[in-house]
Amino acid sequence: MVGKKLLKSHINDEALWGVDDFCGRQAVKGKPASSKVSPDKARALAELFKKNKNCRKCPLGNARLNFVFGVGNPDSPLIFVGEGPGFDEDHKGEPFVGRAGQLLNKIIAAMKLSREDVYIANIAKCHPMIDPTNPDKRGNDRPPTIDEMAGCMPILEEQLKIIRPRVVCALGSTAAKGMLRSDDTIGKLRGNVFDFKVGGHEMKIVPTYHPAALLRNPSLKKICWEDMRLVMRLLSSN
Ligand code: SF4
Repeated sequence: MVGKKLLKSHINDEALWGVDDFCGRQAVKGKPASSKVSPDKARALAELFKKNKNCRKCPLGNARLNFVFGVGNPDSPLIFVGEGPGFDEDHKGEPFVGRAGQLLNKIIAAMKLSREDVYIANIAKCHPMIDPTNPDKRGNDRPPTIDEMAGCMPILEEQLKIIRPRVVCALGSTAAKGMLRSDDTIGKLRGNVFDFKVGGHEMKIVPTYHPAALLRNPSLKKICWEDMRLVMRLLSSN
């Protein structure tokens, strides 16, 4: 009986959040090279982490549990960028590790990639909280303000200068607004490709819905998948 229940729950979960459901069994050709990791880039990222891990430039630094820098392949041509860490990320010190992060892993898998193939970071490196005195309370998350993102953006820019990706996928309205300095909604921004330049390096920004929005509204998955196909087309082009 328990086995049947478990099987049913697994099937329901797959139907809701599974890769096949997400991408309609279609996958895109083209995979970022991940076999070799540049030691120079890894070293530069480690130095950048060390330099900023105790940052308290803004009030978010006083309330956070962990400075959430970023994870993944320093050689990846693709970076996913969110707005800032939430409860799970603050507790683990890694971006996108909660439910939204698990869905992001499935999106990445649907692209025939793994979390280790790409790089994942946020604009704000510290957890923005509604009540900064209570980092152990769930549901205490809020989006970073435009000023908080602008204040923290130099760290992401340094990461981009080191990694030199070809495509940055901005996850969600706040991250897209923070990177593009636009007031447009994510519904208007997505489906478009924006030029972005940091330290002389040119890249493309592709905004899409935040995985948390897909959890709230699964009908957005198909739209998000169109954006991922756009990302893969950009990565496959010369
Ligand atoms: S959010 Fe950014 S600028 Fe503010 S304290 Fe954290 S690392 Fe420093």
